[in-house]
Amino acid sequence: MNKVYLDNAATTPISEEVIDAMVSIMKTNFGNPSSTHSFGQEAKILIENVRRQIADYLHVTPAEIIFTSCGTESNNMIIKSSVEHLGVERIISSPLEHKCVSESILDMKSRKGVEVAYIRPNEKGDIDLAKLEELLKSSDKKTLVSLMHANNEIGNITDIKKIAELCKAHNTLFHSDTVQTMAHMSLNFSEIPVDFASCSAHKFHGPKGVGFAFIRKATGLKGIITGGPQERSLRAGTENVSGIVGLGKALELSLEHMEEYTNHMQGIKDYTIERLSAEISGIKFNGRSAEKENSLYTVLSALLPYKNPLIGLQLDMKGVAISQGSACSSGASKPSMVMMMVLSEDEMDQCTPLRISFSHLTTKEDIDTLVTALKEISNDFVIEKTNAEHR
Ligand code: PLP
Repeated sequence: MNKVYLDNAATTPISEEVIDAMVSIMKTNFGNPSSTHSFGQEAKILIENVRRQIADYLHVTPAEIIFTSCGTESNNMIIKSSVEHLGVERIISSPLEHKCVSESILDMKSRKGVEVAYIRPNEKGDIDLAKLEELLKSSDKKTLVSLMHANNEIGNITDIKKIAELCKAHNTLFHSDTVQTMAHMSLNFSEIPVDFASCSAHKFHGPKGVGFAFIRKATGLKGIITGGPQERSLRAGTENVSGIVGLGKALELSLEHMEEYTNHMQGIKDYTIERLSAEISGIKFNGRSAEKENSLYTVLSALLPYKNPLIGLQLDMKGVAISQGSACSSGASKPSMVMMMVLSEDEMDQCTPLRISFSHLTTKEDIDTLVTALKEISNDFVIEKTNAEHR
């Protein structure tokens, strides 16, 4: 069976060039970057080169890039250390955040008594900046705002420049989870005054188990993993040298081909919207997903006009790997908080969300396979429903 992968927001296939770069390092350089001899120093140079490369991409200084094991660790570190080391007493966030952000915030609430305020998005998934400003004005407590750049389920892009400027004007720290946008778009942090951001290499064809946190130097944030003085004492532990080299290679490829990849994926996304709209009667798209502005070109969130909690499994059996982004309230799957925010109660009860996410490797033929599979499932579903009504 020809298998089709349309779950690139979950993870992307690692590039051949990335594998080659990593294997070469693993074969030729096993030094510990903290060692002062030549083996160690060669490894150290490899890491520092990638740090410089990232800093150039983001228009920041290399000292502001801290390598971690993933996006989850970066977000945990930023949120928890803001409370533990920078005296943050209040966090403003939204119910759209990834679990690694929302759970870190809840942890700080329960263990450190941090006050938490959520901005409820509208049905399009937009965050009201007037509401944010109102909250910023309403308290003198030291505050951290944590709002993601792009949502991993519906693909909405938030204007982090405006938010960062608002936070700056109110002397408030601003963290943005940029895991879905890093290496997918140009980011200039000399113009966007964000204090903290996060990255995960496996979202752009790099290896799993490596990422970084951007930590603006002036904030004075400290680490939460203690031990040796690695990563300027912000993240103890021997560095994942081959992983960092892999991240660097993946970033290099993404930046080199950014325009080409963006155009390709936007074209695939447009084609998917066109085909699904023509073939699946009653289909809708969630959030700002079907819009060109303010939406990730990598993510399309669709809503099927019938309830089918098994759709992910059925598509998988037909060779199509997709994420359900489940809003189903039946069975074992819990409704997703993001879907609860953007869908009406009727839609939650009667419809099925699907997250289709693309990479530069996705082809129109992949989309045709998805559409054929979905049509078969939808037809079976309609026939089954009609029979049940006549029984
Ligand atoms: N933040 C967002 C928006 C994500 O989509 C993900 C991954 O799904 C993460 C954070 C976590 O990243 P990682 O898988 O590297 O821990």
